[in-house]
Amino acid sequence: MKKHIYDLFSYDTHVSFEFFPPKTNQGRKQIYQSIAKLKSMNPDFFSVTYGAGGSTAETSLEIASALTNLAQVTCVAHITCVGMNQDQVKELLKGLEFHGIANVLALRGDPPKGETDFVKPENGFQYASELVRFIRQNSDMGILIAGYPEGHKENPDRDDDFKHLLEKIDAGANGIITQLCFDNAYLFELKDKLVNAGADLPMIAGIFPISNAVQIKRVVELSGATIPDDLMAGIEKFGDSPEDMEKFGTEYAVNQVKELLKGGITHFHFYTMNRHQQTRNVLYQLKRYFPRLNFW
Ligand SMILES: Cc1cc2nc3c(=O)[nH]c(=O)nc-3n(C[C@H](O)[C@H](O)[C@H](O)COP(=O)(O)OP(=O)(O)OC[C@H]3O[C@@H](n4cnc5c(N)ncnc54)[C@H](O)[C@@H]3O)c2cc1C
Repeated sequence: MKKHIYDLFSYDTHVSFEFFPPKTNQGRKQIYQSIAKLKSMNPDFFSVTYGAGGSTAETSLEIASALTNLAQVTCVAHITCVGMNQDQVKELLKGLEFHGIANVLALRGDPPKGETDFVKPENGFQYASELVRFIRQNSDMGILIAGYPEGHKENPDRDDDFKHLLEKIDAGANGIITQLCFDNAYLFELKDKLVNAGADLPMIAGIFPISNAVQIKRVVELSGATIPDDLMAGIEKFGDSPEDMEKFGTEYAVNQVKELLKGGITHFHFYTMNRHQQTRNVLYQLKRYFPRLNFW
């Protein structure tokens, strides 16, 4: 197993999977089943999200540790600036290192439930770029950052948001995972901007295979992603039939990845929602492009 994400970026293509910490025992069972299935596909890494304000700290660590030590795959732990001062971030990094976790996705984070604005903790960090710099100075972690093809929802000025993405890169990031995006034009635009700015690091495109119409409304609310007309038409047509909706969502993701590959974007991060079958189905249809993946 390659431990650091930057050791993996020499490959032509890349596939990674994102999980979130489960809240219930049923959810726990589901995520461990999904880890077992998706691990057998030989992806490049798995990432585990970190709930607003550290609300999932324990479960996030449990899952990240299980991925690293039981499943023995490369793991990226998401960490945020919310509610943590510099000493607490150092402690968190030490804890991750203790569990053998060698990579983080460094984020500012969203405010805890019920709060609208992010508040910088005393002796903490205001922006993800500050967190990235601190991690780079205080650890040997591989560091990923978030990028927003459509701009970040709090910043109406996309050029200004891109400037701040470059600041995170300058602070020491090894790669970018993009916000989920359904419109490839935005992903190609972000990639071009990075190339033009001389930013020589991998951009991993965030792909969300849609499986139901209710979930997509919530996802759009949280991410600010736009829904292209053809996707909206499909959601309207198939939204009432879970089976047809999932089939359509799978086809949409397959076509999206195909087009990105043709245009030179070759790194992909799948938002799995802790499920395995749909992500597997998408990649199975694309298997000739990903020779390092295995299928059950
Ligand atoms: C792949 C991915 C995974 C995620 N995982 C999680 C997770 O596990 N847990 C979680 O809580 N959230 C997660 N998020 C959501 C993320 O935390 C939010 O989008 C958050 O609002 C911004 O985080 P950031 O790291 O992009 O922040 P930043 O890069 O700090 O940007 C935040 C805002 O500040 C602006 N900005 C940045 N620097 C400056 C500056 N110097 N001056 C003025 N303005 C500035 C930016 O334009 C932006 O509007 C994830 C997002 C993505 C894309």
